Amino acid sequence: MKCPFCGFEESKVIDSRPTDEYTRIRRRRECMRCGKRFTTYEIIESTPIIVIKKDNSRQAFDRNKLLNGMMKACEKRQVPLERVEKAVDDIELQLQNSLEKEVTTLQIGELAMEALKKIDDVAYVRFASVYRQFKDLNSFMQELAQILEENK
Ligand SMILES: [Zn+2]
Repeated sequence: MKCPFCGFEESKVIDSRPTDEYTRIRRRRECMRCGKRFTTYEIIESTPIIVIKKDNSRQAFDRNKLLNGMMKACEKRQVPLERVEKAVDDIELQLQNSLEKEVTTLQIGELAMEALKKIDDVAYVRFASVYRQFKDLNSFMQELAQILEENK
């Protein structure tokens, strides 16, 4: 990091601390030539996640949309909002960390289902039934039977 006073390229970090929101790291640096101090900030580089919809159109990932969908499945269940929010955080992070720059709504749906499965059975089945659009009663019953089996 070039010194703003003398242009020298070497500096040492003398203090490093997160900002209040923990979204940035503030570093105090000291120029190794002139000894003057200056501040730099480190932020996370976030590339937008692009979602490919069923009709092949693309749009930016919208976490509120996902949260709403998942909360809807949790209606009248005793699921705290924070738990679903946390699950959405995890999904977003997972998408952010994957090397794919584009994800399909299908992949997101699968992740959401996985998350709901751990939170609430009824919410999971509701979400899955909307999401997978069970073609017939049999495939729905199969899914239910599987859940019951796993919860034994
Ligand atoms: Zn300097």
